[in-house]
Amino acid sequence: MTMTGHDDVLQVQLSHWRSRLVRYSVNVYLVRGVLVDTGFPAARGRLARLLDELRPTAVVVTHHHEDHAGNAALVARRGLPVAIAADTLALLRAGERGVGLYRRFVWSTMPPLADAITPLPDDALATLGLALLHTPGHSSDHRVVWDADRATLFGGDLFLGVRVKVARPNEDPRAHARSLRVAAALQPRRLFDGHRGLVPDPVRALLAKADWLDETIGRIDALATQGWSVRAIRREVLGAEDPVALASFGDLSKANFVRAVLDGGTGDARPRTRG
Ligand SMILES: [Zn+2]
Repeated sequence: MTMTGHDDVLQVQLSHWRSRLVRYSVNVYLVRGVLVDTGFPAARGRLARLLDELRPTAVVVTHHHEDHAGNAALVARRGLPVAIAADTLALLRAGERGVGLYRRFVWSTMPPLADAITPLPDDALATLGLALLHTPGHSSDHRVVWDADRATLFGGDLFLGVRVKVARPNEDPRAHARSLRVAAALQPRRLFDGHRGLVPDPVRALLAKADWLDETIGRIDALATQGWSVRAIRREVLGAEDPVALASFGDLSKANFVRAVLDGGTGDARPRTRG
C-alpha cells in the first residue's frame, strides 16, 4: 500500500503479490473526505485499516468491476453512505458470471453483494462538491467522478492509456470514444486514473485515446465490410496477441477488441467462437 499526496487528493495504491506478478495495481482516492472506489477483494484487510485511518464520510463506486467495487460489502457493513449508480448496484447484486480465471487469480473473487447499502443520492454527493457522470464504454455502468470546483476528474477505468488494444468481451469501444470526448469537454486540469495514477496533460490524453479508438474502429469496420474474419482483422489492425491474452485465456484479448467493435458492446451474450 503506497500513499501519495497531491494537494487536496490522497492517492492510495493497492496491490498484492498476485497482482504484482502481472504488474497490476489499482488506486483508491480520498478527496473532500470521500473515498473514490474500494479496491479489489484480496485487499479487504488493507481497505478496512484505511477506513479506520482516513475515516471517510462517504464512498463513491465508479463501476462494478472487482478491482473497483471489490470491497463494497465491507463499506456497506460499516454503514458508510455509498454513491453508486442503480445499474452498478444491480450488477453487484447479480454478481458477474464467467469471470475469467486470471481476474479471479489477480484480484480474487467478489461474491454477489448481499448487504444493504446506505445510498448517498446525487444531490447529497453534489453538496460534497462531487458528481458521478455516466461514461459507458469500458463497461455499460462506468462512471467518472467530477470535482468541478477544482477541475479534477477521477477517471476510474476511462483512460488507462492511449492505445489499449485488448478488451473484455462486453466492452463498447464506440461508446468509450464518445465518453472520452465528453470527459475531455469538461476541460479537466487533473485526471486521476484508476490504475495509472495522475495523468499528465489530461485533455490531450483523453482526446488522443478517443482519436485512436475512432481510427481503429474505422479500420476494423472497413475490413469487416470487405468480409475479413475477426482473426484476420485482429492480425492486420492490432497485431499478434500479447501474453496477457494467453494468461487470461482470451478474456482480455485483441480478438475481443475486434469483436467488441463488430458487436457494439453486446459481446457478452454472443458465442465466443464466432469468426
Ligand atoms: Zn474496470
